Amino acid sequence: MDISKLSVKEIAEKVSRQELSAREVVSFFAKRCAEKCKFNAIIEVFDDIFEKADEIDARIKSGKPVGKLAGVPVAIKDNILYAGKKMTCASAFMKDFISPYSATLVKKLISEDAIIFARTNMDEFAMGGSTENSVYGVTKNALDPSRVAGGSSGGSAAAVALGLCPVAIGTDTGGSIRQPSSFNGVVGIKPTFGTVSRYGIVAFASSTDQAAPITKTIEDNEYVLSIIAGKDPCDMTSIDNPLSGKTKSKYAVGIIKELKEKIASLPCAKQFEEQIEKIKSQGHTIKEVSVPHILNSLACYYILTPAEASSNLARFDGVKYTTCSKSALVLDDVYVKSRSEGFGREVKRRIMLGNFVLSSGYFDAYYKKGMAVKSLLEREFARAFEDCDVIITPTTPSVAFKIGERSDPISMYAEDLFTTPASLTGLPALSIPYAEINGLPLGLQIMGAKKSEGVIFDFAKKIGGQTYGI
Ligand code: GLN
Repeated sequence: MDISKLSVKEIAEKVSRQELSAREVVSFFAKRCAEKCKFNAIIEVFDDIFEKADEIDARIKSGKPVGKLAGVPVAIKDNILYAGKKMTCASAFMKDFISPYSATLVKKLISEDAIIFARTNMDEFAMGGSTENSVYGVTKNALDPSRVAGGSSGGSAAAVALGLCPVAIGTDTGGSIRQPSSFNGVVGIKPTFGTVSRYGIVAFASSTDQAAPITKTIEDNEYVLSIIAGKDPCDMTSIDNPLSGKTKSKYAVGIIKELKEKIASLPCAKQFEEQIEKIKSQGHTIKEVSVPHILNSLACYYILTPAEASSNLARFDGVKYTTCSKSALVLDDVYVKSRSEGFGREVKRRIMLGNFVLSSGYFDAYYKKGMAVKSLLEREFARAFEDCDVIITPTTPSVAFKIGERSDPISMYAEDLFTTPASLTGLPALSIPYAEINGLPLGLQIMGAKKSEGVIFDFAKKIGGQTYGI
């Protein structure tokens, strides 16, 4: 049986009915990881997966109940804590860090008998859009190894597309789940801010970051998200989100007026237009909506999130969590030398940007302005969702680009044009594969009002996403 073709639910059901053992499941995926290691999607397959699988199998044999994810291997991004295991944020600076406890989302997965299977590659500290900024080296695109897997959750998305695991958890601060999902032809969501607890996750911008599943199908995504969602006393910003919303047979689908010209100039213009026609032919209505400041999102995101990064990363100082410089002689050296040697280029760039926009004299001109734009965007989207149920955009301006092609940081940041608005406003957004250019998948982003994931998933299932996995 090709276990990689089974849905998450099917694996769990087969394991609980003893049609398949958890050991067979993990053996299958561990073997595939070894076969596809040249893609560099997975950094480590955990050494206790067989032990955990046997525990679950033994429990089932003895007639005891098991959870909704019985025997399902779940890979986690390298910025999510799993007690006793390494977690390095793909940074040389954290190369020896062992998680002292497990993130709430990991505990939730384990409580449903998932097997925490592997650690996936990422951009250092989740900063980037290509997984090229990793101490472990670049992750290759599942469909074309000369191209990037996207980022920062490139390892998670490529792992799912390559069939190395049925689910991988990524994190999305400004598009890091949606963009790599789009590049690898899989399904990824950035839920309403607060839906998934951030306890035990290293985020560089705490006000926008969310962890969530990357899967092959929309159904699997909804299933796993419902398990890891929920208010958590350990994260004050977490919320109760029933992932519902008013589902309908036909939806009003918003197209943003201010993005029309931009989209028309992109290589995916034709495919996006065809998708709109397809949606219309299914009986949904297309409505033009206005979000006047949408094109300012990108600049706003690259002012606000580096500001948060510079303050959030202050605790990585060569004393705690991180490696101390061998040449440090006095306390100042410990900080300066350790950070200079430990952090990579992109992380340093963000720390400098952040310190700049927060410094006195520039705070009003940049940070405060950025916050004002963020509030405007929140209001403008709330207004737009009075006229439509969902809004669609391409997930990314291009298909997966060649490794090394975006060495200029500005061209890399430009990738986040369509994903940053949902991040800044805390709105949910799903990326599903919908078309292709020369065999490379394109993602469609479906955004919704706060806590309307149920509507987004329902609409996505109605218009149908196709998976491009290997
Ligand atoms: N590409 C974006 C950035 O570099 C997104 C990162 C993320 O979502 N973690 O900031």
